[in-house]
Parts: sequence; C-alpha cells; structure tokens
Amino acid sequence: MTRNMVEIRGVRKAFGHNTVLKDVSLQIPTGSVTCLIGPSGSGKTTLLRCVNRLETVDAGIILVDGELVGATRHRGRLLEAKESAIAKTRRHTGMVFQRFNLFPHRTVLENVIEGPTQVLGRPRADVVNEAMVLLERVGLADKAVSYPQELSGGQQQRIAIARALAMKPKLMLFDEPTSALDPELVGEVLAVMRDLADEGMTMMVVTHELGFAREVSDQVVFMADGVVVESGAPDEVLARPQHERTQAFLSRIL
Ligand code: ADP
Repeated sequence: MTRNMVEIRGVRKAFGHNTVLKDVSLQIPTGSVTCLIGPSGSGKTTLLRCVNRLETVDAGIILVDGELVGATRHRGRLLEAKESAIAKTRRHTGMVFQRFNLFPHRTVLENVIEGPTQVLGRPRADVVNEAMVLLERVGLADKAVSYPQELSGGQQQRIAIARALAMKPKLMLFDEPTSALDPELVGEVLAVMRDLADEGMTMMVVTHELGFAREVSDQVVFMADGVVVESGAPDEVLARPQHERTQAFLSRIL
C-alpha cells in the first residue's frame, strides 16, 4: 500500500482557452479524507474527474496508488500510463456524483450488483450476498427490490454509494454528493460518508458542507480560479485561514 493514495503534481488542464487547473499539486494520504472547497468554477470537479481519468491532464502527473493515470508531458518527457494501469485505477476508484445516476429500470439490488457482475464478471450469487451486506450498511436492505423512483433523493444517494462500494474501491471520490438533496435528507448521506471515513476509506470530497469538512476531514483544500490557495488541517484552514480569499469565501458561506 502506498503512503499517498493520490499524488497530484503540477497538474494543468484547459478547456480551449479556459485554463481551469493551473499547476495544482496535492497529496491524499492513504486512509485520509480530503474535502475540496471553494467557489463555483474554481476547478474542484475537474480535478476529481482528472483523478478518475474522466478528463485527461495537459501537464503534470497524477498517481493513484502509485500508478500513473493518463499520458502527460512532465519536465519535457512524455509519460504514458499503460491502459492496464488506467483500467485498474478506474476499477479501484468509486465515484459518487451530485445526481445519483442510478439505472431507473433496474431494482436497487440490480443497480448494486451491475458493476461486479458485468465489469468484473464475478458470480452473481457471491455478489448478491455482498450487495445485501452493503445495503444493510447504508440502512436500505429493505429496499433491495424497490426501483430508484420509489426512493427519496437521500436514499438514492445512499444506494449510489453502495453501488460504488460494490466494486471494492481503494479510493472514493464524491462530487457534491448532497447538493441536489432537500436539506432534511443531507444528514443521512453525510452519516453514511462519515461511517466510511471511520472505516478508513481514502476519500476526496467536493462539498459545501463545512460542518462535515470540519468534523470528518483530515485535510481541507481551498481552491479558487484553478489553484490551491491553501490547504491543511480543518481547524487551520476553516478556523484560521491565512489567505484573504479563503477568509472572504468562508465569511460568505458561514
Ligand atoms: P467547480 O467544481 O469548482 O465548480 P469545475 O471544475 O466544475 O469547477 O469548473 C471549472 C471551470 O471549467 C468552469 O469555468 C467550467 O465552465 C469549466 N468546465 C468544466 N468542464 C468543462 C467542459 N467539459 N468543457 C468546457 N469547460 C468546462
């Protein structure tokens, strides 16, 4: 097991003329929780997508569990990830989106077993047993044969988390997992995420939930305009921010 589950070094990413990540470097220690905060448009989602290789980077490198993700030019040399490394990294990385993206015409259980049976080709009986344990863990074992539209947004998001966990990820990426939810449903999703953190899962979480960031994270990263403005322990960054931009952002949302 590598000490840093994720190593991001000098990453640059542009969409056309819009450079959305400018020389971003960040380390995510194995077993830690990192919350990415910052104004809308600062590049947080794009950074997560680069880690999962839903986007490629233009410069710099990203290592996930010691494996290079994507091809890039680094210090003048072209480095290329092996397809096998990319596929492996993807398999070991779970992602939970703002919108739950469950398959609407499949039951909850079918949604959870889809990845392990279809992508990994594992026997259905084993996977069903594991899926039921996961549904128990997110408090929804009784919904196994329900369809997503029969569930609340909070329940759907908990299923989306169980579905990601069914692939036995080493790393979980959360992109504003509670921002599409009614306020009264936010807590149940954060509680599942907190349990996951307590069990030692390495997590990167883009969030506006500063209470969660303060209580659960080991590292808070404040981004603005494509750069990491400051990062550190939550009680440093959230309680004693050093930079004016962080101070201004926090005073607006607290
Ligand atoms: P955040 O998550 O901090 O709100 P994003 O990473 O979503 O920020 O977006 C950063 C910038 O990148 C924004 O200006 C956004 O419009 C732009 N952007 C994101 N994805 C794309 C894309 N696929 N094509 C073009 N521009 C994009």
